[in-house]
Amino acid sequence: MVDTTDRFRVDGKVALVTGAGSGLGRQFALTLAGAGASVALAARRREKLKETAGMIEDSGGKAYCTDLDVTDSLSVTSCVREVESELGTPDILVNNAGIARQAFLTDTSEAEWDAVLDTNLKGVFLVAQAVARTMMAAEKAGSIINIASILGLGVSKALASYIAAKSGVVQLTKAMALEWCRKGIRVNALAPGYFVTEMNEEAFEQGAHELVKQHVPMGRVGEMLEISGPLLLLASDAGSYITGSIITVDGGHLVRSL
Ligand code: NDP
Repeated sequence: MVDTTDRFRVDGKVALVTGAGSGLGRQFALTLAGAGASVALAARRREKLKETAGMIEDSGGKAYCTDLDVTDSLSVTSCVREVESELGTPDILVNNAGIARQAFLTDTSEAEWDAVLDTNLKGVFLVAQAVARTMMAAEKAGSIINIASILGLGVSKALASYIAAKSGVVQLTKAMALEWCRKGIRVNALAPGYFVTEMNEEAFEQGAHELVKQHVPMGRVGEMLEISGPLLLLASDAGSYITGSIITVDGGHLVRSL
């Protein structure tokens, strides 16, 4: 018999989760804390981070809230420095912060394009670079998980800026994996399908569940707990030989029959 349960634990590890005040980021933070990590929660709205921290602390875990705007390199370096001095060098980074702007290409403004690319793609680069530098300086192995999307692998109408950013995240993940694997840093991405969060709740209030029923082979959106296992696989020693991979968590959305 082989018991691998322990390999999914992250006891004593330090994790940084961006965008941890809501949605998938909150779920990633709760998951890592539940598996034994001390978790730094970073985003712009401190009151939302505090809610997540309260949930972790109520269950006996350790959380630390820190301000972060992923589009601003000074904010990124100061956040990573603060995490290092308060909790220690991060072992795990979940690059989760993201925004979406729905518009057809001819209606997309330059400001919207920049906001989406700066948050979803430049932000992933800035935070991963800052964390990888601290891991390397401390000669510490680590795991970076970038949150892409199935829209980084396939396309849909009226989301071109988001699609461009997320496909960039997919390739950036592979480039990071290649450059950093000899330093002991694994880099992978999760590509979620549809989960109901602040980002898309309006669309779901207006009937998107019907579209999901038609287009997603499993016929439903993902439940929060269903993203926790894939995250832990990549974050923990259970995934110690996985780097440069993009794991879809989408109820079969990308393999629907034509
Ligand atoms: P949410 O809107 O609930 O979460 C996004 C988080 O990102 C917010 O908590 C927000 O916090 C944070 N954020 C946004 N901009 C910045 C910034 N400049 N600096 C720091 N933090 C920022 O949406 P989701 O949970 O759905 O999204 C999480 C990730 O999952 C995103 O990358 C998204 O693209 C991806 N994803 C989501 C899918 C879904 O169906 N929900 C599907 C595929 C991918 P604050 O405003 O406080 O800064």
